[in-house]
Amino acid sequence: MAYEVEKPDEEWQAQLSPSEYQVLRLAGTEPAFRGEYTDTKTKGVYSCRACGAELFTSNEKFESHCGWPSFYDPKDTSAVELVADTSHGMIRTEVRCARCGSHLGHVFEGEGYPTPTDQRYCINSISLRLEPTE
Ligand SMILES: [Zn+2]
Repeated sequence: MAYEVEKPDEEWQAQLSPSEYQVLRLAGTEPAFRGEYTDTKTKGVYSCRACGAELFTSNEKFESHCGWPSFYDPKDTSAVELVADTSHGMIRTEVRCARCGSHLGHVFEGEGYPTPTDQRYCINSISLRLEPTE
């Protein structure tokens, strides 16, 4: 599918740091409990670090204790794209930025977290940039 923001790999590589590129463009995963937003409680909006699209807000962020920032819903349903991912011998649902196609993380459901959706958007900190509102 075509994304609103598309760039050749060389441009993404020039724009992003090597570790940002590894996660956002090569679907890597940052180490658990190391990401800068894992335990962040600051109010604000989380945007895509690759294209700036607004993806998640602090209102839907919850403490999952899984080691990555976790949200029970995106800011807008259309902000993210969900893609079946069968890599690493698992059946998972990949979460991508709907605007630029960059990899954000995975979404899991039915885990029993006391949230309105029972979903956990498990997102790499390095895929996001927090704009504090207070
Ligand atoms: Zn994006």
